[in-house]
Amino acid sequence: MKTIFEKSSGVDGINLTDKTTDVNFIPQNLLREGSIGLPQLSELETMRHYKELSDLNFCIEKGFYPLGSCTMKYNPKVNEFLSSLEGFNIHPNSDDNLAQGSLKLMYNLQKALLEVTGMDAITLQPSAGAHGEMTGMMIIKKYFDSIGENRTKVIIPDSAHGTNPASAKMAGFDVVEIKSNSKGQVDIEALKAVLDKDVAAIMMTNPNTLGIFEEGVKEISDLMHANGSLLYYDGANFNAIMGWTNPKLMGFDVVHLNLHKTFSTPHGGGGPGAGPVAVVERLKDYLPTPVVEFDGEKYYRNYNLQHTIGSVKDFYGNFSVLVRAYTYILMMGKNLKNASENAVLNANYLKEKLKKYYDLPYDEPCMHEFVLTGERQKHENGVSTLNIAKALMDGNTHPPTVYFPLIVHEAIMIEPTESESKEKLDEFVETMIQIAEESKTNPEKILSAPHTTPVKKIDEVTAARKPDLKYIN
Ligand SMILES: *Cc1c(COP(=O)(O)O)cnc(C)c1O
Repeated sequence: MKTIFEKSSGVDGINLTDKTTDVNFIPQNLLREGSIGLPQLSELETMRHYKELSDLNFCIEKGFYPLGSCTMKYNPKVNEFLSSLEGFNIHPNSDDNLAQGSLKLMYNLQKALLEVTGMDAITLQPSAGAHGEMTGMMIIKKYFDSIGENRTKVIIPDSAHGTNPASAKMAGFDVVEIKSNSKGQVDIEALKAVLDKDVAAIMMTNPNTLGIFEEGVKEISDLMHANGSLLYYDGANFNAIMGWTNPKLMGFDVVHLNLHKTFSTPHGGGGPGAGPVAVVERLKDYLPTPVVEFDGEKYYRNYNLQHTIGSVKDFYGNFSVLVRAYTYILMMGKNLKNASENAVLNANYLKEKLKKYYDLPYDEPCMHEFVLTGERQKHENGVSTLNIAKALMDGNTHPPTVYFPLIVHEAIMIEPTESESKEKLDEFVETMIQIAEESKTNPEKILSAPHTTPVKKIDEVTAARKPDLKYIN
């Protein structure tokens, strides 16, 4: 009998709807009966369709994107070119001997990331920040199991990103939440009150999600270690500290980085990311395998770690994201430190310019981001933070992160990043001031925003309950 491929001819191949073909090895009831109704479009029409769709989209190529907690920095286009070089397009099951270039890149990236974090060993495998968190918590769990200590609790500040408690819980811990103090930092007395021998670890973000540096971090790490507990560093805000300090100096034992935030991979919409996890010496043997090593002659994947938690992803993570991070680090060199400096300067500039017009719940020097509240606008003018966010879209700006962190009502979380010019920042300030003023003088305009976007104000409730997912031109 001929195979389906031998029977194919011309560009159309075999027509499975034609039941006269002798593909009778396919049961009759599985053969398609009619056309599947694919749109009949030419390549040109298809291309125009997608270009039109992409023009409707807002992206960093079009305007300012101050999405707090997400670090939407500029991603050099050369990264894209390098990550698609043909030589990197190898099968993940290739023998180490045939993959020396790719392994070398991963090895060198590991070294660079160890240098910026101050840590002793690292895995590149996890594919997102949250995935890194879970990997880190699994390492901590296994560490205590293997030294025969049954520690069941993980302490997490109330300002933390929601993925922190989720990851701790998924790794089998109970979560203990502690309050922030009036400076927006971990309340050390509250920490002492819950610290006992059941505590495995604390998960902290520093600077925290309010964009504030935890001044007590050293005292906290000493307290935790004296209690036999470990410290986990959520590195999502690493863009604020590169080269100025590191998690090791602050006393942390496990850290994840979000390569798609700090080390320049385009993200948003759930695109591929990478969340490498670095650890101190005593946790080295617990990392997922393989780790990339070098024996003096050859780069190789080591699957042989004594206490490994196993593998957390196929092969070794999102390789093309690793290439982008490596490219970025090599291009930046010592300028990584300037990037952090400028990110912090830009955020403080915006904070000082805007604090007259919006309330600033924690009036402290900030790091790379800061959090305003729209409470005044809400109570005095009936304009909510969501309305303000929508009105910003009319100013060719992506809205900032809103309603996060949860401890700030009507939160507006702004992260300008290092990439923007002073002119762009001033433009944003003008737009924000205009919105604050119009909230008083013409609230209707803000309440009905956006007015200039392809999709105008939507009915949130109906959109959530009865989503219409068709694209209609
Ligand atoms: C983004 C973020 C995370 C989660 O990272 P993903 O890569 O989105 O999974 C965790 N913590 C903080 C503070 C973040 O900003």
